[in-house]
Amino acid sequence: MELACLDLEGVLIPEIWIAFAERTGIEELRATTRDIPDYDVLMRQRLRLLDEHNLRIDDIQQVIATLEPLPGAIDFVDWLRERFQVIILSDTFYEFSQPLMRQLKWPTLFCHRLVTDEQGRVVDYKLRQRDPKRASVQALHSLNYRVIAAGDSYNDTTMLAEADVGFLIHAPQNVIDEFPQFKPVDNLEELKLAFVEASDRRLAQ
Ligand SMILES: [Mg+2]
Repeated sequence: MELACLDLEGVLIPEIWIAFAERTGIEELRATTRDIPDYDVLMRQRLRLLDEHNLRIDDIQQVIATLEPLPGAIDFVDWLRERFQVIILSDTFYEFSQPLMRQLKWPTLFCHRLVTDEQGRVVDYKLRQRDPKRASVQALHSLNYRVIAAGDSYNDTTMLAEADVGFLIHAPQNVIDEFPQFKPVDNLEELKLAFVEASDRRLAQ
């Protein structure tokens, strides 16, 4: 019994905060953990900026609804779901990813939550657990699933390490160099082949 676990941002969809910053023109929202390593400080800044620009959850989702999955991603997810049970393991938020998940036809998603008040202001965020991607793969192993995983960045490496087979896709060169144990692929077509090869079943491509 095999599961496919995929990262979301950078694999199937654009980086949501960066794309959102571009759509809204709010430059400071482009900041990532590379600029502000403390995730809580970064998230507090993001929530403050949303509030300052009077962006409620509905406004945010309307902007995000204008974004599209990466080229080929919808077909890729369709292809994968015919061959594997697919679970997306992401550090995004349900409320943020919803418009893009709709376009991907709602594959199962394990991620985090934003907290909104009655007016729809985003007032807080809730991380589901520590090291959630690794913990998810561990949990799936306890259910006797073999896990093949793919992701694009540092926050995926514990998931890839825990998985039976892990691939990097669209990864920056420094991540590829630092984690040579994970085979890098350049695009979703290559990732299909990688999943077929990594499977312990005979799969049609
Ligand atoms: Mg990613």
